[in-house]
Amino acid sequence: MAAGRRGGVRAWFRNGRGWLGHISDAVVSVFFPAGCRICGSVLTSASRVPLCEGCLSSFARVPGILCEVCGRPLPGFAKKEGESLLCPACRDKTYCFERARSFALYQDAVVQAILLLKFEQIEPLGAWFAERLVELVKAEGLTRAADVVVPVPLHREREIERGYNQAALLSKPLAKKLRLPHEAVLLVRTRARPDKRVLSLEERWESVRGAFATRPGSQVDNLRFLLVDDVLTTGATLDACARALRDAGAKSVMGLTVARAVRSPLPSSREW
Ligand SMILES: [Zn+2]
Ligand SMILES: [Zn+2]
Repeated sequence: MAAGRRGGVRAWFRNGRGWLGHISDAVVSVFFPAGCRICGSVLTSASRVPLCEGCLSSFARVPGILCEVCGRPLPGFAKKEGESLLCPACRDKTYCFERARSFALYQDAVVQAILLLKFEQIEPLGAWFAERLVELVKAEGLTRAADVVVPVPLHREREIERGYNQAALLSKPLAKKLRLPHEAVLLVRTRARPDKRVLSLEERWESVRGAFATRPGSQVDNLRFLLVDDVLTTGATLDACARALRDAGAKSVMGLTVARAVRSPLPSSREW
């Protein structure tokens, strides 16, 4: 009898959330009285991500035809037999990372979701995005292509001011899901971003050039790194971090970001 009851409990857990799930769905509006943080609609599932299914499924994925190195969408391009599909910047060997990939285009609801992550430290949203990045890594066949996961660091003063690094809200759950070590402080930003809001393309590259370093004594030599950030705009930040890692002896660097700027300016290697 007792064994039967225990079996029943196990079955109840196996079958999902049972009556407790229904109750938690019912009280979800108590936890998130404001509803979806993007569109305001009532949240009907007990997920800890404060966004509705409609908003989450509206995120536009990066289209399939893209630069094999930097992941820039190349609509209208066709891959020629036996040739790599590369954007002009990667034909010029602009970047120091081996590869960069992003989950979604930086537009519409994705922009708002990233602002929530950046300014409100919504950890369940970071974990949700990390899940999407794991799917991306698997789809690219790269689950065994890295040894260590690192976030793009904030300058120390900025991190103290904010209290956290939004890139680490992604990289930490990502490392856990990939069962890789997470090194949150291996890379450091030694120079803060200029305060000016809008930077020209050249200023963007200039502001990050040499702005990152590895912490003395860090183990970097011959390791393959997975470098994580929220948005890839020009690729300058990922490039500067990848350079710091390669200078310290890293074997390879792969960049992963949640979003990718839709119309990212094409860097020309002649400009820097
Ligand atoms: Zn919504
Ligand atoms: Zn490229």
